[in-house]
Amino acid sequence: MVTLRVMTRSPSPADSLLARASVPRYTSYPPANHFTPEVGPDRHARWIASVDPDRPVSIYLHIPFCRRLCHFCACRTQGTRTDAPLDAYVKRLVTEIRRVAALLRHPQPASAVHFGGGTPTILPPHLLRAIDAALRSSFDVLPDAEVSVEVDPMELDERRLDALASIGLTRASIGVQDFADAVQSAIGRPQSFEATRAAAEGLRARGARSLNVDLIYGLPHQDAASLRATLAHVDELVPDRVAIYGYAHVPQMARRQRLIPQDALPGPAERLALFELARRLLLWAGYVPAGIDHFARPGDTLALAAQAGRLRRNFQGYTTDDARVLLGFGASAISRFPQGHVQNAPASGAWAARIDEGRLASVRGYALSSEDRCRGEIIDRLMCDFAADVGGIAAAHGMTLAAFHATLERILERFGPEVAVEAGHLRLTASDGRFARLVCAEFDTFLAQKEAAYSRAI
Ligand code: SF4
Repeated sequence: MVTLRVMTRSPSPADSLLARASVPRYTSYPPANHFTPEVGPDRHARWIASVDPDRPVSIYLHIPFCRRLCHFCACRTQGTRTDAPLDAYVKRLVTEIRRVAALLRHPQPASAVHFGGGTPTILPPHLLRAIDAALRSSFDVLPDAEVSVEVDPMELDERRLDALASIGLTRASIGVQDFADAVQSAIGRPQSFEATRAAAEGLRARGARSLNVDLIYGLPHQDAASLRATLAHVDELVPDRVAIYGYAHVPQMARRQRLIPQDALPGPAERLALFELARRLLLWAGYVPAGIDHFARPGDTLALAAQAGRLRRNFQGYTTDDARVLLGFGASAISRFPQGHVQNAPASGAWAARIDEGRLASVRGYALSSEDRCRGEIIDRLMCDFAADVGGIAAAHGMTLAAFHATLERILERFGPEVAVEAGHLRLTASDGRFARLVCAEFDTFLAQKEAAYSRAI
């Protein structure tokens, strides 16, 4: 039973929309569930060949393996106790890196490399180094490139820390979720504070200049007291950034979530209160908000970007990365080009088969029209700045403000004092951006088709 004594403000009429609504997270527009097989390897190859050789690209490497499978996690990842599948996977990953690089005008500069998953730190040192060697022989990884990795503290030892240092690690994101025993037990993710602190210290000692901690609100048995205790522990780690995401309970899509005790989940009002509590505690601790769910220490590049209106959104969430091209490698990885998005085969087996057949592993994607780009940019600015110059963005994409009149009127009617529209500028009036995803959804022409597939807006 979840009880919250903290409601930090009175709910507004528009709050009922938050409780009811399921909307995309808008890490891309359109979201990946609207990708189709119309975009496949042929178009993917043409888009790779057209990449500007003078503009650095970003690189994403997906490692879809974990030693443990947390009940809450909706990521496509597979459990493994041995290293054999990792060896085979990395061998193909290296092949894929070389195959894509061969289509580029060599050597393509790269300004960022991100290892995500799954659990990238499951890789033994020789495999991490093999990927790094393939990248550096195929791309011109710039000396000041950001090299970031998602870290499971329970899958990190001295040898792996040394390997991360040797590949030039600059930033790490540590998965925490919640430190309370009852919560960890319900989500199948035991993780002590001591192990987490050791990971943070080890990463800093090996050159990580920026540490991020990921938390989740809306988990079973989570309440105000447990969340306060978790944030007090997080404070001891002195992270540069904290991200707090809402748990999306979609057991019909993520079968593992059937193990989550549904009756222990907080309801919509409790979720809202949990998020507000976390937000207030982080602000009191001196963090600056960056977008809807990230917080950064003043002086951190994410905080500076948020304050300067330079925050960006990509498939990992908020970022300072302004590369126009993101090349994704590995099963299910998504690449982004000015022309559109491309996704690799999501299942490891299907991805491996394509690599073995000498092909690109892409199976679906989406070619953007100028209207899609316009809507995508409005959505990006709303997600990052909680404001968008709808008229200016429309004009930049060959559209007119008039094309969005009906949308703006609907937004004013639905959200009332939560939004303001003036001379074609749309602005959310609340500083926490809690309606951002819902307002973005008003610009999303794809949404009506698959509403049920998305997570709650809060
Ligand atoms: S939360 Fe991380 S460690 Fe747990 S199953 Fe998901 S990707 Fe694996």
